[in-house]
Amino acid sequence: MIIGVLKEIKAEENRVSMTPSGVEVLVHSGHRVLVEQGAGVGSDFDDAQYAHAGAELVSIPAAIYAQAEMVMHVKEPLPPEYELIREGQVLFTYFHFAASEELTRAMLARRAVCIAYETITDQQGALPLLTPMSEIAGRMAAQEAAKYLERGQGGRGILMGGVPGVTPATVLVLGGGTVGAEAARVACGLGAMVFLLDTSLPRLRHLAEIMPKNCIPLMSSPATIRELAPKADAIIGAVLVPGAKAPRLISRDLLASMKKGAVLVDVAIDQGGCFETSRPTTHDQPVFEIDGILHYCVANMPGAVPLTSTLALTNATLPYALTLAKKGWQRAALDDAGIGRGINMAAGRITCQGVAEAFGLPH
Ligand code: NAD
Repeated sequence: MIIGVLKEIKAEENRVSMTPSGVEVLVHSGHRVLVEQGAGVGSDFDDAQYAHAGAELVSIPAAIYAQAEMVMHVKEPLPPEYELIREGQVLFTYFHFAASEELTRAMLARRAVCIAYETITDQQGALPLLTPMSEIAGRMAAQEAAKYLERGQGGRGILMGGVPGVTPATVLVLGGGTVGAEAARVACGLGAMVFLLDTSLPRLRHLAEIMPKNCIPLMSSPATIRELAPKADAIIGAVLVPGAKAPRLISRDLLASMKKGAVLVDVAIDQGGCFETSRPTTHDQPVFEIDGILHYCVANMPGAVPLTSTLALTNATLPYALTLAKKGWQRAALDDAGIGRGINMAAGRITCQGVAEAFGLPH
C-alpha cells in the first residue's frame, strides 16, 4: 500500500503521525511511505532520518493526497486540504467529528474512508489510541500544578512535596481514570498528600491496590468535595462521563472557601471543564485567576511535549496502520470489531452512530 504522512498544519500542533522508526517498519513490511518534507521537524525528526528509514520525501501535500491510498495525520484535515481528498481514500487520524459539522459534511462530500483514532476500541472496550494522550495529560497535570503553586507563577508558594519537617501540598484529584491515576501517581511521587476521588467502587478498589500509601482513594460526592476543597493546595479535574459534557464539580461559591493562591488544573476542559469558572486556555497563556484561585485549562496539554507525545501516539497507532495497510480497511474491520468501530465514514455515508446523532444525519 502507498501510505502518506503529512505535516500538521493546525496551530500549536507539533506532533507527526509517524516516526522514522515507524516508517522503517512499514517499508520493511512492503509498503511505500511518502512523507511531506519537514513533517517531523516539530518532533525533532529531520527529513534525512525519514529518508534513511526508506521514506520518499514529497514537497507538497497535494502530491501525497494524489498518490497515497492511506493518509495519516494527527489532527483532522483542515479546509485547504478538503479538495485534495479523493473518493475511497483512507484517512487515519483524530477526527472528533461530533465537534464539527463542517468537517463532517466535507468528508461525506469527498466520500473518503474516515478511520478515527478516538473511536477504535481494544478487546477490553478501552480506547487504545486515546489512552497515551490521557497518560501524558495526567502526568503533566501534576507537573503544572507544582509549577503554578510557586509564588513567582502566582501560586501560594508551597513546594509540592514539602521537605522533611514541613508539610507537603494537599492535592485533590477528581476522577480516577487514566488522567486522574497518572496525575495522582506523579503528585504522590513528588511527595504530596493526595486524595483521589471517583464514583466507581470497582475502580476505587483497584486504585486502593495500585496507588502508593500517600494516595487516598475516596468515593466522590458533593459533600466530600465540599469538605476537601478548602484543604487543597491544588485540585486536578480529570472526570469523564462518556458522551456527555463534564459534570461541574466545583462551583464558583466553593472557590471562596479555598486557600488563596491554590491552583485548579482542569484537564477535562476539552469536554467543557469540571469547574464552573473554567474556560479553555492555550500554551501561550495557560493560566488565569478568579477569586484568588489560579486556573490552568489548556485543552491540548500533550501539545506542549511533542517529542514524548509523538512517540506515545505512534507506539499506539503503528500496529493499526500495519494491519490496515496489510489487509485493507474492509478486511481489517471484519477481522477486528474494534477497528470497525474506528470507521466513522465510508462511501459518503456515516457509519458511526454518535457522529450521525450529533448532526441529525442518516447513518
Ligand atoms: P477515563 O474514562 O479514563 O476516567 C474518567 C473517570 O472519571 C472515570 O473513572 C469515572 O468513573 C470518573 N468520574 C465520572 N464522574 C465522576 C465524578 N462525578 N466524580 C469523580 N469521578 C468521576 O477518562 P480519562 O482518559 O482519564 O480522561 C479524563 C478527561 O481528560 C476527559 O475529559 C478527557 O477528554 C480529558 N483529556 C484532556 C486532555 C487535555 O489535553 N486537556 C488530554 C487527554 C484527556
